[in-house]
Amino acid sequence: MNFDAASFDPMSFNPQAVRAEFPLLMLADPLLHYLDNAATPQIHRSAMEAMADHDMFQRANIMRGTHHLAEAATAAYEEARAQAARFLNAATPDEVVFTAGTTAALNLVAHSFGDTLRPGDEVMLSLAEHHSNLVPWQLLRQRRGIVLKFLPLTADGRIDLAALAGMLTPRCRLVALTHCSNVTGAITDVATVVAAARGVGARVLLDGAQQVQHGPVDVQALDIDFYAFSGHKCFGPNGIGVLWARGEILEAMPPFLVGGGMVGEVTPEGSTFARPPQRFEAGTPPIAEAVGLGTVLAWLSTLPWQAIRAHENELLRRLLAGLRQRSDIRILGPVDLEARQPVVSFDIAGLHPHDVCQVLDRHGVALRGGHHCAQPLIRHFGLDGANRASIAMYTTHADIDALLDGLDDVVAVLR
Ligand code: PMP
Repeated sequence: MNFDAASFDPMSFNPQAVRAEFPLLMLADPLLHYLDNAATPQIHRSAMEAMADHDMFQRANIMRGTHHLAEAATAAYEEARAQAARFLNAATPDEVVFTAGTTAALNLVAHSFGDTLRPGDEVMLSLAEHHSNLVPWQLLRQRRGIVLKFLPLTADGRIDLAALAGMLTPRCRLVALTHCSNVTGAITDVATVVAAARGVGARVLLDGAQQVQHGPVDVQALDIDFYAFSGHKCFGPNGIGVLWARGEILEAMPPFLVGGGMVGEVTPEGSTFARPPQRFEAGTPPIAEAVGLGTVLAWLSTLPWQAIRAHENELLRRLLAGLRQRSDIRILGPVDLEARQPVVSFDIAGLHPHDVCQVLDRHGVALRGGHHCAQPLIRHFGLDGANRASIAMYTTHADIDALLDGLDDVVAVLR
């Protein structure tokens, strides 16, 4: 890891000061209580400035140019890759493939790694997955006749890892799970998954979309094989994300999207392909967005994460306590602070989440309501949708109180 949480004073984190670094929260809408951070946290000004700077002073296409602007743009793009590698503690930047986001990264794996699977090979998922770590595998099942298995859920909506050993067979080639649930905030016990998967020779993929806004990730310490995340989920730009995979796995994967920039030699008869990561980056990538992402990852890598976690947990405790006081509210998922991120979904008896969110919007509270692209998990709770409040490093006590106060009005208006 390229940051050392222990070297920071845990008291040094100031959410109001960090809030000032997010233009939308300070300039555009200072009255907003933004609690939709699991969908998209606000963008940090360093990413906005880096993108604007890039387009103002360095804009050119990358890789193939020989003029100085093209060289500068290429260097900036590759520095962003190196920064992403540092954020993930990847062994080398060549293990970092820029994609359009988590969904694109997962589709890439399902196609390219998927093309190396044979009929009857198994991929293990869970019932807690976001649709983007589920539907690509269903299409792979149609294309290649693989078998999908789904880890069940515990009563409180965690992935039931006690079932894993009994469900794994030597035909399992991949265990692909969310690192953190976008509905319940539950963090997956990766060590248990990796130990079991290694026992049958299966690879491990983590969908990191919800984890990255809570700090750097160490893919080597986790001892996994694939990691996917989106720039917009970690205070960075839209339209850019990362697929990290071990070098030898990427080397063995055929390309997914094909075209310019990812080939060796092309003749009318056929083509050879570049080595990773270029093999998986066909066409002109979102260059300024990559630069913005690299910049925000560098910023994230300097933050005092222990203190941020303490702040987020304090707010989470306040939110859970406030919700629990209401007999008509059911919290979905774990209610303790252990192994969870500050994402809280809840149901208000008899009230549709869309109506709830609309009334809260009048109080300046931005919440999300719906199935959160995780229908099997939502149905596990016997629901079609739920309300979700998600906390980020810049969330304040006032934000949580505005939500809790707004709930009185929700009930008064809708009942
Ligand atoms: N996985 C999880 C757990 C998510 O929360 C999300 C976004 N809601 C995604 C995948 C997809 O991310 P994106 O839309 O950025 O591709």
